[in-house]
Amino acid sequence: MQRTKFVFITGGVLSSLGKGLAAASLGALLKSRGLKVTIQKLDPYINIDPGTMNPQQHGEVYVTDDGAETDLDLGHYERFLNVPMSQRNNYTSGSIYNSVIQKERQGKYLGRTVQVIPHITNEIKEAITGIAGQDDPPDVALIEIGGTVGDIEGLPFLEAIRQLRGDLGKDRCLYLHLTLVPYLRTAGEHKAKPTQHSVKELRSLGIQPDIILCRCEVAVSNEFKREKIAMFCDVESDAIFSAIDVENIYEVPLRFFDEGLDQKIAIMLHLPAKNVNLTTWNNIVHTMANPEHVVKIGIVGKYADSGEAYKSLIEALTHGGIANKSRVAISLISAEEITGKTVDCTLQGLDGIVVPGGFDVRGVEGKIIAAKYAREHKTPFFGICLGMQCAVIEFSRNIAGIPKANSEEFAPQGEDKIIYLMTEWYDHRAGKRVYRDVQSNKGGTMRLGAYPCRLVAGTLAARAYGQEEIEERHRHRFEFNNKYKESLEAVGMKFSGLSPDGELVEIVELPDHPWFLGCQFHPEFKSSPMHPHPLFSDFIKSALENSKG
Ligand code: GLN
Repeated sequence: MQRTKFVFITGGVLSSLGKGLAAASLGALLKSRGLKVTIQKLDPYINIDPGTMNPQQHGEVYVTDDGAETDLDLGHYERFLNVPMSQRNNYTSGSIYNSVIQKERQGKYLGRTVQVIPHITNEIKEAITGIAGQDDPPDVALIEIGGTVGDIEGLPFLEAIRQLRGDLGKDRCLYLHLTLVPYLRTAGEHKAKPTQHSVKELRSLGIQPDIILCRCEVAVSNEFKREKIAMFCDVESDAIFSAIDVENIYEVPLRFFDEGLDQKIAIMLHLPAKNVNLTTWNNIVHTMANPEHVVKIGIVGKYADSGEAYKSLIEALTHGGIANKSRVAISLISAEEITGKTVDCTLQGLDGIVVPGGFDVRGVEGKIIAAKYAREHKTPFFGICLGMQCAVIEFSRNIAGIPKANSEEFAPQGEDKIIYLMTEWYDHRAGKRVYRDVQSNKGGTMRLGAYPCRLVAGTLAARAYGQEEIEERHRHRFEFNNKYKESLEAVGMKFSGLSPDGELVEIVELPDHPWFLGCQFHPEFKSSPMHPHPLFSDFIKSALENSKG
């Protein structure tokens, strides 16, 4: 903890400037200088975590090994840093307040009036310094404050980071402000006013930025930095950097390096940084810029108009492309629009089909039809979580002669609940059997986080992974119902991945098909551009073969 330095990242002007990607890219650069880096996201909203939020509004819910349901920015952090995140890397106003309120009920504040300052701000400070209070603390912790400076709900977080500079010392804290610098094409010039206003707002809260990162279409000139930003915002002009728009997010670390951002931060914080080694990043970007093939993949899901809802999945497919020197052209297809009549014209021409995870009945029948199409047309098929459940339902209905097959989620009173709610299982993390109160809340009733899985030798899964013991992350309530296992096996479904006690079905596949696999877990959470996930690499490889054939 003593040695950890902190970079606080705030955002100005408007949202969606890419603070998460900026933090991840800066983290990657500092890591490639031999530093131990971690990143934490502080979200000002009141939900305890994003687990109950609509992905269309908030983007995907990213799940960590320890079972935390977190903001999708944590996915960027893991993909760029290649280190696992945990519960401690993401706090919300809701989780902070929740813990203060619990302490108040337990009488821990000894009769005092509990207030935003100091109680909420202290809780935030503990969350921030807690990320460094480990046995092997990081050299640098990047702390991203969600939202935009000026939002009412972000105030306690900004106050907490203001106080931390006093608590930890100036030499351990640095404030980086990401802002928008619009470029007016007609006038042919950049505009600094929004940045000046946003910095003024930040300074009114007692925070003087040390570094300004200007998100812009075209790089800002030195003269602009000096005369329009440095002079008005009291930031040295060599601490002002451009963050230009790029086609490929994995280029961002390279662009930041060209700008000298990491070097400046290392100097300002006196970090023991080595020379940067960017070979990995250069290779990734080079491979992506020079694909030898193009492969067409359709994602049949509920949120066809929101790539953010399938962020990790889209990234993992792209990584599968990197492993096969291919560009993956992804189309999002609305499951609701797939019917027996439309399926052929919607899905023909795709080299591979993915049915992703999801909740709720909307679009489910379309997903089941998509799985049938892929099975019958021998199109590579990858079913993830709900996608696996749909594939099993389809196979049960159309091959195993169980026409009423369904999931308990969609037909609670159904006759054949092929997918059902398991009320007890062995939790390997808790080291005991756990029981689920079926009537309880929506939050906290899912199988969440990393669980071990044993693969059956000689199967597609075992071949793709190249090993037989794996661990993957889960986020679901329902499971395959073992009552139907034998009947499905008898007509050709292979159960190729099971929990170590054999109780839970984790992977199914169809051997009589070029590539048809469904997994109950979410492999997309563990893929990175430097280590494409084996299932995604293998799926894309097969889709590529399908496209050639
Ligand atoms: N709704 C399904 C379940 O809860 C699948 C969840 C998912 O796809 N993440 O089991």
